[in-house]
Amino acid sequence: MTRTGEQYLDALRDGREIWLDGEPVKDITRHRAFRNTARSIAHLYDLTHEAGFAPTLTVESGSGERIHRAFHIARSYEDLVARRKAHKIWSEATFGFLGRSPDYMASGLAGFAALPEVFAGAGFDGRENVAAHHRRMSTGDLYQAFTITNPQIDRTRSASEQEENDLYLRVVKETDGGIVVRGAKMIGTAAAFGDEVVVGTIEPLAPQDVEYALSFSVPLDTPGLKFVSRTSYEASARSVFDNPLSSRFDENDSLLVCDDVFVPWERVLVYRDVDASLHQWWATPAYNNFVHQSATRFWTKLEFLTGLAILIAKANNTYQLPPVQIQIGRLMSWVNIARSMLIAAETEFVPVGSDGGVMINPEIASAHRAMAGDIYPKAVAEVKLLAGGGLIQLPASGYDLLHPELGPVLAKYVRSPGHPAEARIKLLKLAWDALGSEFASRHEQYERFYHGAPHVYLPAVVRDGRPDLCEQLAQSCLDGYELDNSMYGAS
Ligand SMILES: Cc1cc2nc3c(=O)[nH]c(=O)nc-3n(C[C@H](O)[C@H](O)[C@H](O)COP(=O)(O)OP(=O)(O)OC[C@H]3O[C@@H](n4cnc5c(N)ncnc54)[C@H](O)[C@@H]3O)c2cc1C
Repeated sequence: MTRTGEQYLDALRDGREIWLDGEPVKDITRHRAFRNTARSIAHLYDLTHEAGFAPTLTVESGSGERIHRAFHIARSYEDLVARRKAHKIWSEATFGFLGRSPDYMASGLAGFAALPEVFAGAGFDGRENVAAHHRRMSTGDLYQAFTITNPQIDRTRSASEQEENDLYLRVVKETDGGIVVRGAKMIGTAAAFGDEVVVGTIEPLAPQDVEYALSFSVPLDTPGLKFVSRTSYEASARSVFDNPLSSRFDENDSLLVCDDVFVPWERVLVYRDVDASLHQWWATPAYNNFVHQSATRFWTKLEFLTGLAILIAKANNTYQLPPVQIQIGRLMSWVNIARSMLIAAETEFVPVGSDGGVMINPEIASAHRAMAGDIYPKAVAEVKLLAGGGLIQLPASGYDLLHPELGPVLAKYVRSPGHPAEARIKLLKLAWDALGSEFASRHEQYERFYHGAPHVYLPAVVRDGRPDLCEQLAQSCLDGYELDNSMYGAS
């Protein structure tokens, strides 16, 4: 049975150590930097109980109870389509602005469980732990956060060559009951809202980095686990009217610091194994499952931005102008590129091992992360071009509309045909929050980097793809003629 929103919010009221502006946050469900976003996530859980959505969002598990579909191991093309439809419902409920909604890492856990043999390392066998973890998280409908990037300290050195030993997270002690870990990881997007956090490393580690080659999952209130939050956009929002997105969908990002955290053996997935540390993401369907969620969310976010562009053009009475139709056409073409890549990746699915079910096409998944990081800033720039100065010429607060002196002034000068002041200000404040605010700028950085840096993912498109086919085609052209031009005769 999936959780209700209220059950989710109750679970957040534990001893987790979240820091913001130099102070510990006692209860994120009540704190002004987190409470609205927590409620937006709670709403997603509530949707799993609505008759119209439940059959899509949930599925019967092997043991007969209904779990969220993202936890389900896809066995067929139909399963992939069903999972995308579930991702779409949650993406639309958040307009694509919750990158790490609970279905993201839930699908990653399904990826781990699809191929547990990847966790059978030479010195540590994590197979049973992975299966038990997947069972516990799916049947408890728990929110799995994750931090799997080492902090940006010195990218020219390996983990064990950093200035100090405990900068990147590593194991410092082993006991009969488990291990003790120390160090940091970035960036815990939505980690503050999770029930548990997976800690690992998605990039390759050097052979000498075995102390750093581990992964595990622990509850957020584990002693010694500290999350240092970035600036909160939700806290600086004036109202939902003034900042409709940042006031409700600020998923938060934080630095994870582990201060001698004890991890019981049953919670360890990979231990002192540089190969398994990497392969858990790339040799299982985990990473591809992430892309399935994020490609669905990205498509939805482009639909949202394009919808904003249409509403703005209509409010400015420019919608029918041919140059504006060109701009809307450009945006619509990106929506359809995003949608088509998703559908193609499902249609060209591939099997996972001999009995691990199926996953979306890895070549298309790899290309998608390059495409999305490239297109998103362009889409934002296109909508800003359409909006012009109206995005800026907005009263500081929507409440100015109710002011006895300012209200009539705004009603007179901030309007366009069919759009009285309140409707126009409401629309353009939403647009600014999506396109120009600090929240919006963070989203540009997110779409460019959440799947890694370009110097990592662009070469991966070559590695995961078929460059030989492109090369062969060009070579066949070269091979089709000679210097003497004999095939077509001399001119
Ligand atoms: C908003 C946001 C949310 C995120 N959320 C999460 C999350 O939830 N969980 C998580 O684990 N991670 C998360 N990440 C982190 C993300 O995984 C990393 O940002 C990403 O892997 C890139 O690593 P980096 O930021 O350290 O960049 P770096 O690897 O330091 O690269 C930054 C730039 O430095 C240059 N550069 C660095 N090294 C090289 C090189 N070898 N060759 C050429 N150029 C180089 C390039 O110009 C590159 O673009 C998030 C990131 C962002 C921005």
